[in-house]
Amino acid sequence: MIMELIKTSGVVIRRTKVKDNDLMLTIFTKDLGVIRASARGASGFKNRLTAGTALFAYSEFVLYPGRELYKVNSCELIESFYSLTANIERLAFATYIADLTGYTVQEEAGCERLLSLFLNTFYLFAKWGGELRTVKCVYELKLLEHLGLAPCLTACVACGREETAVFSAEEGGLLCETCQGELGSGRRISAACLDAVRHVLTSDDKRAFAFRLSTDVLEELEIHVADLLSAYIDHDFYSLTYLNTVLGKQ
Ligand SMILES: [Zn+2]
Repeated sequence: MIMELIKTSGVVIRRTKVKDNDLMLTIFTKDLGVIRASARGASGFKNRLTAGTALFAYSEFVLYPGRELYKVNSCELIESFYSLTANIERLAFATYIADLTGYTVQEEAGCERLLSLFLNTFYLFAKWGGELRTVKCVYELKLLEHLGLAPCLTACVACGREETAVFSAEEGGLLCETCQGELGSGRRISAACLDAVRHVLTSDDKRAFAFRLSTDVLEELEIHVADLLSAYIDHDFYSLTYLNTVLGKQ
C-alpha cells in the first residue's frame, strides 16, 4: 500500500535528540493537531531538515504517516521565533505554553484556530513590550474553550439566578452566594475580572489580547485561570513552576 504524503504547517513544541543525529519531535500542526514525528539526521551539521525542526520553529512540513509515528520527509522554515531563546523570561512563558498545548491537545482535526492563536501568543512572547502574564491567561482561557471547557458566565450554574459574584472552577462557572454556601466551592470574582474573562471568551483571536488590567485584577485573573486549569487538567507542569520562579512568584 502506498501511503500519501501529508503537507501541513506546524510549530515544533518539543524536540529530543535520539541516536545518530535523529530527532524526535512533537509538532502542533494545523491539520493533524499535536503529533509525534521523527526526523532522520536533523540534528546533524547542515542537514536539510535542521532549520525547520529547531525548537519553536514554525514550518511547512511534508510528513510520511508511519505505523506509530510520522516521519518528516521535508520541511521549510516559515518563522523561527529564535529571539525567544535570548530572554529567560520570554523563553519560560513560551516553554510553558508549548508544554500545556502538547499535553492537552490530541492528534485531531480542527486545530487551525488554536494554532493561529498559539502563533499570535508566540509573536507576543517574542516581541511585545506589554504584560506577558495577561497574554498567558488569554491563551489558557482560549485553550480551555478549544477543549470544550470554557466556564459558563451568564448566571449561577447551579440555580440560574442572574446576579452572581462568585466564580467556581469546579462547578464550571459563576455561582450565587446562596449556592456557594451550599456547595462550599468557589471564590469571589470582581466585576473587572469577570469583564476580562468575558472579553477573552467572546472576542476573536486578535482582539482577545487587546485589553489592559490593573495589577490587582491581573493577579485575580491569574488565580481564577489557575483554578480552572487545575480543576480540569490533572498534571503539574515543571515548566510552570519554573516560569513562576523566573517571575519571582514562588
Ligand atoms: Zn445559585
